[in-house]
Amino acid sequence: MSETLSAPAAAKLGVRIHGTTQLIGVIGWPVGHSLSPSMHNAALEHLGLDWCYVPLPVRPEHLPEAVAGLRALGFRGINATVPHKLALLDLMDELTPAARAIGAVNTVMVQPDGLLGHNTDADGFIRDLRDGGYDPARRRALVLGAGGSARAVVYALASVGAEVTIVNRTAEKAERLAADMAAGTGGRVQANSFSRDALAELVAAAQLVVNTTPVGMWPLIDESPWPEEVPFPGQALVYDLIYNPRLTRLLRWAKQCGARARDGLGMLVQQGAASLELWTGRTPPVAVMRAAGEAALARP
Ligand code: NAP
Repeated sequence: MSETLSAPAAAKLGVRIHGTTQLIGVIGWPVGHSLSPSMHNAALEHLGLDWCYVPLPVRPEHLPEAVAGLRALGFRGINATVPHKLALLDLMDELTPAARAIGAVNTVMVQPDGLLGHNTDADGFIRDLRDGGYDPARRRALVLGAGGSARAVVYALASVGAEVTIVNRTAEKAERLAADMAAGTGGRVQANSFSRDALAELVAAAQLVVNTTPVGMWPLIDESPWPEEVPFPGQALVYDLIYNPRLTRLLRWAKQCGARARDGLGMLVQQGAASLELWTGRTPPVAVMRAAGEAALARP
């Protein structure tokens, strides 16, 4: 049986790779769940570019070989997702100041003279806040978690002049992150305890609460990182980096308290849009990317 697709069948499947097609993609392990191929390919098609964005499942032990091969294979750039963002730092020829300060790379540009590591997560977070009509400058922010995404969020908030308090299950990680980011941005960043009493006191003064932990993510959707005896103040915006599900238990509680709630899909879309702009130099069609991300999320 022939494995060749007829032209109409290929078009129906959305296959549009030719000898001239420029390649970009995402490396992760696993990577099958990623919404990025749907978002980026919709954007590339909308822009009429002969480019294609491919998922690249790369085992952690193969990361150096995979990265070393990007230029030889003609890739223009890649995104990185879990678990590669930290390990990529040491594999770049050059880093942007943001990637260096955050300590993670989520976007690689393959340039003639080497690989340039960016971090668009921080930018994506701020762009999405502003998209939602929220200016974080000079606001008091409470960040839950001190992992990889917290590094980008805290860097972003401190860089635009927010006053940030980090609380984390492992207190030492919150303290280390606060010290790193205070030094890296010159901003006001501190750590506090994750106890119920401390949270009650901190949240009363907070204008923005950001969950960067995976607690409440599918399939454990009945969990929340927040003690529900502690209400959110009505003036707060509660932002959950999780986007699957869109309405987490944390965001349901925020709404019940009369606070504003925002999920993480906008950040995902905006960090992708920032990457696409870096690679192609074109203004990314953010609404197209969002619609494609929403459609991919809705697929079983
Ligand atoms: P990570 O590096 O593994 O960090 C996870 C953090 O959550 C750590 O601080 C960890 O605390 C804390 N944590 C984990 N389980 C917990 C629990 N049961 N109770 C309390 N704290 C807990 O993960 P990450 O890469 O930052 O990702 C975190 C979440 O952000 C994921 O859901 C991811 O999908 C989402 N994310 C979204 C976007 C977006 O664009 N919307 C971007 C990046 C990430 P310890 O330090 O004590 O272990």
